[in-house]
Formats: sequence, structure tokens, C-alpha cells
Amino acid sequence: MFKQIELNYNFNALEPHIDELTMNTHYSKHHAAYTNNLNGALDKLPELKGQSIEDVLQKLSDISDEALRTAVRNNGGGYYNHNLYFATLKPGGSKKPTGDLASRIDKDFGSFETLKEKLSSAAAGRFGSGWAWLSANKNGELQVSSSPNQDNPLMDNKVWVPVLGIDVWEHAYYLKYKNLRGDYIGAFFEVLNWDEVAANYEKVLSA
Ligand code: MN
Repeated sequence: MFKQIELNYNFNALEPHIDELTMNTHYSKHHAAYTNNLNGALDKLPELKGQSIEDVLQKLSDISDEALRTAVRNNGGGYYNHNLYFATLKPGGSKKPTGDLASRIDKDFGSFETLKEKLSSAAAGRFGSGWAWLSANKNGELQVSSSPNQDNPLMDNKVWVPVLGIDVWEHAYYLKYKNLRGDYIGAFFEVLNWDEVAANYEKVLSA
């Protein structure tokens, strides 16, 4: 049975960038529902018992029942994506990457500012609900992408692993930012902890 990650900060800790009601609703209602619904779907797929969520998503197409496959795609994606999202947020988090990640960003994108622009435009340009991603492969290469709904770069793929995800579903920002998604994206970077992203990157390299 999968469990939501525990937050090591309070719902109001990211104010004024991300407001308390949004954080509370996002974690306690949306993320909780994805988690419950994932566990419900997996109850009907005993052959997947004991697999990590990464394994489940990387081999989604192995689920032959279409309705169950869709339920695992939407809710397993929602479960995994939000664990990643909430874990990379931190009040006063490290504003810049360091170490291997920092040098790879310079190599692949030219500069940290260019990477931020690419991530912001992937997040702003995603039509409707979805996510923008920074992903890595085992060679350490980096990729910016976006995906609809609760999809992510892990799905039916064993190459790219997300190290950072920006949630651009309206539930992530609408209470405070209304239609101004760009303002939320700017605020997200104010509370993003690049130390955690760098740790995620190291995990992909050493996997
Ligand atoms: Mn969300």
C-alpha cells in the first residue's frame, strides 16, 4: 500500500508564494485522493504487489485491463508526481543547483537562467492540466518536457527519470493566482529547493 510522503514543513510555510489553503487542499484532498485511488486499483492487480511505483509506471502497458491501466496511469501518476513536487518545496530552499547538477545544466543548457526560462515556458505553454519536467538519464543528460494530466516521463519508458516537476493543474495555484499561471510559476521557483533536485539527480546517476 502506497502512502503519501510526509511534509517536513507546515501548510503555511511557503507563504506568501504558495498559500496555506492551496497547500492544505492540494496535499490533504488531491494528493490523498490519488493515493487512495491508486491503492484501490492495485487491490485488483495482485500481480503488481510489492513493486515500486517507478516499476509500475515504467511498465504501465503490461496492465492488460484498459480501465485498470487508465486508473493506475492517472492515480499512480498523481501519487508519484505529487510526492516529487512536495518533496522539492522548502521555505527558503536553496535557490541554485550545486555540484554535478549545476555543471550539467551549464553543459546542456548554457546557463542556469536559460534552464529556468525553458522550464517556465514548458510550464506556461502546457495547454490545460499537466506538468513540466526536468528529467535525467543514467548518462547524466538532462531534458525539459511537459505532459498532460498526471502523465510523467517515467511512463512506459526506462530512460528518463524526473528530478523536478512543476504542477500546472489549476488546483495548484487558482485560489491565489486565478488565471495568472505565470505568476505561480515564478512563485514556485521562490520555494523550490535545488538541493533536493540535485539529490534526485545523484540518485538517477547512481541507480
Ligand atoms: Mn496537483
